[in-house]
This record gives sequence, C-alpha cells and structure tokens, in this order.
Amino acid sequence: MAAGRLRPPLPRRELAEVALGDAADVDAAVKGARACFESDGWRKLSARQRGRLLAKTADLLEARLDEFARLETAHNGKTLFESKIELGMTVNTLRYYAGWADKIVGDTLPVEGPFFVYTLREPIGVVGAIVPWNFPLNIASWKFAPALAAGCTVVLKPASETPLTALLFAELVQEAGFPAGAFNVVAGGGSTAGAALVRHAAVDKISFTGSTEVGRQIMKMAADTNKRVTLELGGKSPNIVFADADVKAAVRGAQTGIFYGKGEVCAAGSRLLVERSVHDQVVEQLAEGAKKLAIGDPLDKNTRLGALVSKQQRETVLGYIKKGVDEGATLVAGGRPGNHNGKGYFVEATVFDAVQPTMTIAREEIFGPVLAVLSFDGVDEGVSLANQTMYGLAAGIWTKDVQKAHRVARAVRAGTVWINNYNSYDSGAPFGGFKASGFGRDLGREALDGYLETKTVWVGL
Ligand code: NAD
Repeated sequence: MAAGRLRPPLPRRELAEVALGDAADVDAAVKGARACFESDGWRKLSARQRGRLLAKTADLLEARLDEFARLETAHNGKTLFESKIELGMTVNTLRYYAGWADKIVGDTLPVEGPFFVYTLREPIGVVGAIVPWNFPLNIASWKFAPALAAGCTVVLKPASETPLTALLFAELVQEAGFPAGAFNVVAGGGSTAGAALVRHAAVDKISFTGSTEVGRQIMKMAADTNKRVTLELGGKSPNIVFADADVKAAVRGAQTGIFYGKGEVCAAGSRLLVERSVHDQVVEQLAEGAKKLAIGDPLDKNTRLGALVSKQQRETVLGYIKKGVDEGATLVAGGRPGNHNGKGYFVEATVFDAVQPTMTIAREEIFGPVLAVLSFDGVDEGVSLANQTMYGLAAGIWTKDVQKAHRVARAVRAGTVWINNYNSYDSGAPFGGFKASGFGRDLGREALDGYLETKTVWVGL
C-alpha cells in the first residue's frame, strides 16, 4: 500500500492521503504472510540469509535516516532531534536481531532411559504486530525485527495517527530482498483493521503495544483462536529521588523522564517521589527548568518540546491538568496549552507539587508533559509509594548509596529500573511490564522467545 502524495509538514495541514485498510485488506495481508511462511522459498532461506536481509534493511534505513526522521516528526509532532535518536535505535534493533538470526539454538537434554532428547526452536508462524503512535517505527521494529529473525512472517498495523513511516519502510524491506509476503503493512483503525488482525484464524501471535484498556480487549479476542500474545501496555512510573542523591543530576533525570517525547512515553517518570528534606530545592529547580523548555516548530533545532500527536490528545492532557488543579494540587510550572504562531497542539511543560497519592494525576496515565511531585520520608515509605499503582512498567532511583539503590531496585515492582539515569534503552536490554503494564518482553534475547515454539524430539536408542 502506498503512502500517497506527501506534502510539506506544516502544523495542522494535511500531510498525506492514506488508504484506510479494512478487514478484507487484513485478510489479504494475512493470506500473503501465511503463503510466504509456508512456501519453500521462505523455509529454505537459511537463518544466516534472514540475518543478512535484516542487516541490509538496516543499511537502507540508515542511508535514508534523515528522510524517515522528518516523516516521523511530521506525523507525530515530536522534535526532529528525538526522531533522529529513535530512527537510529531502529537501525540498531535491525542489526541486533540480524546478528541473532543464526544463533537461535535448542538444547540436548539428559533424561532418564535409553533416549537422546533434544529441543528445536521453531518460528511461531504469522505474527500480527499492532503498535501505538508515540514511537511509530521504533516500537514496530521491536516486534518485526525479532519476529523475522526467528523465521516468522509479519503483518504490521501502525496506529491510525502515524502510518507513514511504516508504509515507507515496507519499500525498504522489499528493496532489501525479502520475499513477497514476509512483511506486510495494513494502515487502518484499531477497532476495524486491528481487531480483524487479532481475530484472524491464520495469525498465530499478536504482539501489541498500546493502552492497558485495549490490551485487555485484545487478550479476550485472542482467546477465541488460542493465539499467543505479548502485551506492552501503559504505565505510571515512579522516579524516586532520595535525599542523598546528586540533586542536579536527579532534576535533569526527572526532566528527561517526563518531558522527553512531550511525555507521550509509556515509561515516562510521571510520578516524581522526592524525599522531604530535598523537596524544596528539587521542585524549585524543576519548575525553573520546565519554564525554559521552548515550544516551537518540531523541525527547528532550538525547539525542546514538540506538539502533541493530535487535538484529541491535547484535550485529554488539558483535562487532566484541570483535574489536578480541581483536586487541590499546586501548579508550579506550565499548565496551559502552548502556542506556536497560533498552530499545533502544544501543551506547556507542566509540574504539579503537593500531589497526594489518591489524586487522579497521581494514579492515571496522562500521556503528556505533566509531572506529579509527591513527598516521602525514608526508604520504606518511598518504596511503598512507588508500588502504589496498578502499573509496573519502569522506575527510577536517584541516590549515591549503592546498597540502597540495589535494595530499592529489588523492592520496586517494575520491568525496568534505572539507577541514576532515566529513559535509557538499548536493543540488547529487555523491556516490558509487570502487573497491568503487560507481559512478555520486547528487545534483548528475551524478545526472541515470544516468536518461537519449543519442539522436544525423543530419539529411542
Ligand atoms: P491504543 O491502545 O489506543 O492503540 C494502540 C494500537 O492498537 C493502535 O494501532 C490502535 O489502532 C490499535 N487498536 C485500538 N483498538 C483496537 C482494537 N479493539 N483491536 C485491535 N487493535 C486496536 O494506544 P495509543 O493511544 O496508540 O498509545 C498510547 C498507549 O500506548 C499508552 O497507554 C502507552 O503507555 C502505551 N505504550 C506502551 C508501551 C510499552 O512498551 N509498554 C510503549 C508505547 C506506548
């Protein structure tokens, strides 16, 4: 499917026309993926050859990184600086799994009796990848790269707000030399194209990243066809600053934690838990820093805070800010819709102080540049506050005390813990959630397990 004509990326101006895929388009794509998966051509392609194709795709993407980054910024609103970082990560992810393709191995097992027993790791089959709009191609690559490395074929459904980079990327996959049907993209709505992919009987696995609510629906829908599922869902991650932290570094980390990507980040450190004795200096520095974050054209290198993805998302975020004020939190920075020459769906970098754990802004995922600051006394209260959430995606810890850092890292129920850093990612480091933040892992060696079946073979001796 082609992305259609592309126009210059101006705020609130039509950018491109994209065909809205429906259940029939999903069916055609799944049939293509299934036929490829079962074809001799795909089966006979060696693991090393699959790795080479992924590596070639990485080279092609790297050569056009600037173009892809501009397109990512155009449909998402994030700064070009951020898009370049994320496209660079996408290249790394393709290379990382290119390297894994010929290193997927089984075991030989020492069982009782006259047997030789071994395991084979086989591809699950056709994978449906459904992804959100916040890191459009990057998160998609967390799914299709390990899936293709494992020998699966893929149907990708990008978010309806951000289908452009996925569609353009399909051209690179073709150019790299992947057989037809190995990688497919269907742009379309969630409840139409997305649901059709989840329900399709010829899809073996759904790898989903998105909201906890939609994740639950997908789990239910997938049950009817016994599909495997991996769910990477929402978060309300605690970023804990202890009194013995390097306060300057912690404030910088808190800022990156919530304002990177305009806060439209699943692992955003949206709850800043500050030990009471350093609370005042942390909040003062944070508010000062937030006020300096320049809103503007996301393509301009001086812009620090891009536009939110859509009008609707801005309304949602502003609604939460109003709730914060109404429920009695203290607004110390931002709080208003931003403005760039009267265009774009911006929201100022916003910091709320004196937030209580029961307040809506302390409990619900806002998915915008809004930080809730809460205070605590001592390690036990800090940990208990950190764990007072249904989510468990990530957490940050700021302290110079090595023992405390590791003790707290174990006590916090989250899939990723950053000590004296925040929002760090690498293709080699698994990422995913505890509790309502989902299950299964993207990235790292662990992600491959999500695309493989284990077959045990017994040989009588
Ligand atoms: P969303 O759940 O609304 O949509 C995600 C994807 O699911 C989109 O492609 C959408 O079209 C599709 N979808 C929607 N309804 C569907 C249905 N009934 N059946 C099948 N597919 C359906 O999420 P969003 O608003 O695009 O993204 C924001 C959410 O994603 C936040 O909650 C955020 O925390 C989460 N997220 C999680 C991670 C992670 O790794 N854990 C990463 C990024 C974003």
